[in-house]
Amino acid sequence: MDPNVFDDVLRTVRDFVRDEVVPAEDEIERTDAIPERLRATAADMGLFGFALPEEHGGLGLSMSEDVRLAMELGHTVPAFRSMFGTNNGIAGQVIVKYGTEEQKQRWLPRLAAGEAIASFALTEDGAGSDPSSVRTKAVRDGEHYVLSGAKRFITNAPHADVLVVFARTGEDVHGGISVFLVETGLDGVRIGPPNAKMGQAGAHTAEVFFDDVRVPASALVGGQEGTGFTAAMSSLTRGRLHIAAICVGLAGRIVEESVRFAAEAEQGGKPISRFQLVQALLAESQAEYYAGRSMVLEAAREYDSGADTRLAPSCAKLFCSEMVSRVADRAVQVHGGSGYMRGVPVERFYRDSRVFRIYEGTSEIQKLIIAKQLLRQFA
Ligand SMILES: Cc1cc2nc3c(=O)[nH]c(=O)nc-3n(C[C@H](O)[C@H](O)[C@H](O)COP(=O)(O)OP(=O)(O)OC[C@H]3O[C@@H](n4cnc5c(N)ncnc54)[C@H](O)[C@@H]3O)c2cc1C
Repeated sequence: MDPNVFDDVLRTVRDFVRDEVVPAEDEIERTDAIPERLRATAADMGLFGFALPEEHGGLGLSMSEDVRLAMELGHTVPAFRSMFGTNNGIAGQVIVKYGTEEQKQRWLPRLAAGEAIASFALTEDGAGSDPSSVRTKAVRDGEHYVLSGAKRFITNAPHADVLVVFARTGEDVHGGISVFLVETGLDGVRIGPPNAKMGQAGAHTAEVFFDDVRVPASALVGGQEGTGFTAAMSSLTRGRLHIAAICVGLAGRIVEESVRFAAEAEQGGKPISRFQLVQALLAESQAEYYAGRSMVLEAAREYDSGADTRLAPSCAKLFCSEMVSRVADRAVQVHGGSGYMRGVPVERFYRDSRVFRIYEGTSEIQKLIIAKQLLRQFA
């Protein structure tokens, strides 16, 4: 994107997040929903398609632009980003990179406009960290496939129009997994009630059941069996860098909340910011925030140049998701008893940030990916 246009986008999003979304945080927490006025403005601003190609109605941001936008989005409740996260990220990118021209034309413009929601349906009971164990099956039957199985923890499933479903079409561990675009209105698709989660009120996950769902052969992504595993991995890698940037944005906000509290709260008639041990908590968080920010910007640069599309995104996801958890933990400490009370932003962010170490690959899985890449490079 033209750098001047991108600067305008960034400024508009930044103002919108700070002026409109931040004041609505308590409402989002209380109602477990993103208000329609925020959804509509986000759609008008192109946020449902910031990472989708321009020729299909998106903003076509590069990874370097994506992470800078994500840092702005991370400044508020993660549920806001989650509303359009699957369209741009894990689900949308499968269609962008692996879909047929017809599949792209059918879905991407609607996803980019916020007229349709896509979910990424990979995880199953017993197939989370190890997606090669998926048991959901797709059996060819003439010009159709018949899908049966169940998925869990699927973000935006309660709102989805289309599910990007990973299902087994063959025996081969990786090569036997294919990916389908399954409309939620089809007979046999059942979405469970939204899960009751620890945090991120306003973002919804659910189980999805496929009871002999007949989909046309044209629903097979790319028109080819066996691409599912590669498509999932490639989409998740990009997603990891985006999540790392969200963690950086959130860490920055949490530091701001901590500094404000430390400057205003008093003990023994003086601000707690005078205590050097409180200052140390702020300093450690700021240094870690800065390290995460630098890391994400560099990783995104290498992703765009093609120099590193695997190792750095996992390093960034690992470091930044753990970092924002530490920053949130220190923020609660800075707030003392108030930090443990509902209604205080850092208490909410403490719960909201916990999942970043789990989804799109746990911290343990990121370590395995990093080590595998290092050992492969050595060999
Ligand atoms: C809020 C939320 C939203 C989500 N959204 C989606 C979504 O939209 N789409 C989707 O498909 N999934 C989604 N998920 C699922 C998420 O990606 C998985 O929960 C995650 O990958 C972990 O898988 P699991 O839950 O099966 O846990 P497990 O894989 O069983 O992990 C349990 C523990 O074992 C460890 N472990 C597992 N394997 C290994 C190993 N080989 N070596 C070392 N340690 C290991 C893990 O690190 C973890 O500590 C979401 C989850 C949550 C909580």
